[in-house]
Amino acid sequence: MTFFKKLILVIIALPTFNFASAQVVETVLVRGSKFKPVLTEVELPDLTSTTSFDGKYFKIVKGKSETAISLNEADEKLKLKAATTYYHLNLIRNFWANTIHSENVQNLPKVTIRLEITNLFSDLGHFQHDSIDPHYNDALSIPAGDPMDGVDIPSWGNEIWFRPVKTIRTEDLPRSGLGADGNPLAKYIGMLSNPVESAATNRMIQLTLQKIFTPQQVQSTFQSTMIRQAGTILISEILLEASKHSDKLFLEKYYYLDTAMIPEIIYHEFSHIALSDKLTLGLSTPILEGMADYFATSFSNDPHIASKIKKYSLSMPKDGSNKNKYNPDYETNTFANSDFVLSLLWSVKKEFPEVADQLIFNARNSLTTGFSDIKHGLIQALLDSCETICVDPRADRMKLRDIFESRGF
Ligand SMILES: [Zn+2]
Repeated sequence: MTFFKKLILVIIALPTFNFASAQVVETVLVRGSKFKPVLTEVELPDLTSTTSFDGKYFKIVKGKSETAISLNEADEKLKLKAATTYYHLNLIRNFWANTIHSENVQNLPKVTIRLEITNLFSDLGHFQHDSIDPHYNDALSIPAGDPMDGVDIPSWGNEIWFRPVKTIRTEDLPRSGLGADGNPLAKYIGMLSNPVESAATNRMIQLTLQKIFTPQQVQSTFQSTMIRQAGTILISEILLEASKHSDKLFLEKYYYLDTAMIPEIIYHEFSHIALSDKLTLGLSTPILEGMADYFATSFSNDPHIASKIKKYSLSMPKDGSNKNKYNPDYETNTFANSDFVLSLLWSVKKEFPEVADQLIFNARNSLTTGFSDIKHGLIQALLDSCETICVDPRADRMKLRDIFESRGF
C-alpha cells in the first residue's frame, strides 16, 4: 500500500474514530442465558449529552430534580440504576416504535424518568408533599398534566417513577386492603397456583386466611394508591399479607422489589405509556396491567416478570405460563397485578406467535381503562381484532374461542 493510499484510509477512518470515542459505554444489568441477570458493558444509544444521562428520548433524574444524573455520579448504585433504566427504556421504545409501529410512541415527547422518588403523584400538582406517606418498592407511569390554576408549578410530560428499594419485614407490610369490601379471602387463594402445592396446604392457607380477613374492614393507602395510579405491585403483597400470620407456610421473611433494576418492570412501565393513547393512565386495572405485562414479556421473550433476580426482588414473580381458570374476582382492581391477563395473552401468543403482538396491540382500540372488563371487553376485542389481523380469520377465531374456553370462559 502506498503512503498516499494509507493517508486516504486514515482520513476516511478519522471521523469514524472520533465518533466512536464520543460514545458512552456503561455497565448495565441485562438478562443473560436462562434469564439470569448479568452485568455487562453496553453503549448507551441516543444520548444527547456527553456528561449526563440525558438523551433524545429519555432523561434520567433523581427524585424531584429536573437535572439529569451525571455520567460521573459518585453513587455507584444510583449510576447503575440510571444506566440500566436508560438502556432498557431505549430498547423497549425501539420495539414499540419500529416493531409494533405505535404512532403514539413514534411521536412521543421526551420522557422524564425519576429514580429513588418516594413522593405520591398528584394530578393537581405533580408531586404530593414529601411528608405524605413515602412509597418504596414499586414503579408507576404518570400521565402528562397541568397544575391547578394559580399554582406556581410547571406542567409536566409523561414520566416514569421508580421508587427506592426498601427491605421490609413481611410482618410489617402494610395491609393490602383485601378485606375492605368484606369478602373472605379464602376464595382468592385457589387462584394463586404457584406456592400452593398440595390440597392439604391449600386448605390450611384457606383456613388461615379466613381467620385473618373475614372479620376485618381494612382500607389502606395501598388500595387508594392503586386505584389512582398505574403502578407495579406484585401479587406477593397478598401472599405476604397472609404470611405474617402463617410463617411456616411461606418462605420469605422479608420483602423488597428494586423496580429500576428489573428489565421486565422497566419494559412494563414504558408499555403503559405506549398504550396510553387508548388505555389512559390514572387507574390500575387488570386490563391495563395485563396488557403492559404482555408487551414487556413479549419483548423480553420470556413469560416471567421479576423471577430469578433475588438480589433485586424478593417478591412473587408473575408467570405468563400459568394456566389458571377464569374467576370473576380477577376483574376487580384488587387483582390488577395478578398474572391472569398476562397468562391469557400468552396463550394467544403460543397459538399465534407470528401475529400475536399486532393482534393484541390492535385489540386495544376497542378497550378503555375505565370500562373494559376481561370476560366481555378483552375477549371480544381479541376476537374482533382477529377479524382484521389473523391470517385466516374464520379458522383462527375458532382457535381463539378454544383457548378462551380452556381458560374457563
Ligand atoms: Zn403497571
